[in-house]
Amino acid sequence: MDVLVVEDDDAIAAPLTKGLEREGFHVTRTANGRDALAAPPADVVLLDLGLPDMDGYEVCRRLRQRSGVPVIILTARSEEIDRVVGLELGADDYVVKPFGFRELVARIRAVTRRGGLTTTARDETQRIGRLQIDRRTRRVSVDDQEVVLTPKEFDLIAMLASDVDAVILRTRILEEVWDPHWYGPTKTLDVHIAALRRKLGDPAWIETVRGVGFRLRALT
Ligand code: CA
Repeated sequence: MDVLVVEDDDAIAAPLTKGLEREGFHVTRTANGRDALAAPPADVVLLDLGLPDMDGYEVCRRLRQRSGVPVIILTARSEEIDRVVGLELGADDYVVKPFGFRELVARIRAVTRRGGLTTTARDETQRIGRLQIDRRTRRVSVDDQEVVLTPKEFDLIAMLASDVDAVILRTRILEEVWDPHWYGPTKTLDVHIAALRRKLGDPAWIETVRGVGFRLRALT
């Protein structure tokens, strides 16, 4: 698995790179945003927010414009607002510095995990009104226009689509799409739902059942 580490601080990047390589990852490291955007495609990006040449958020936004590569933000800014803004830009997760190496590796494995959903056959193209979901290629389209989703957003819609019109419980979504031991803010789920609604072009696709969960509707 190719990991792109975008971090200008050698004291963090050097041991991190060494540790990841010991875990069997192939690591490319860049120390600024420009080189990060020019780097070859990776399977996951670890992105520092405080870079010398440009804001990490901007790097995240530009990476997102061209691919669904999972992005984990490395940040010393622990304020909730930063976390939410990072997730709204399409980051999949974040760790606050100083972070434990084991925790980081667990998060890399979580965001790159594929095909964890068992409720529906994986190689089936599902049509839900104007929406089409292809689990084999992990592509989603509305009116035959592809909607570019992050891995977590795809997992989320695939799970909601496993039982159209049924209410899927928040707790079940957090367990299956995130992690059985998810201990981050549950606001993360709402942020991803908001991003999905925006990308699908109509908030009515996903109905909120307050305090309980969400329901995918078949809009025609
Ligand atoms: Ca930095």
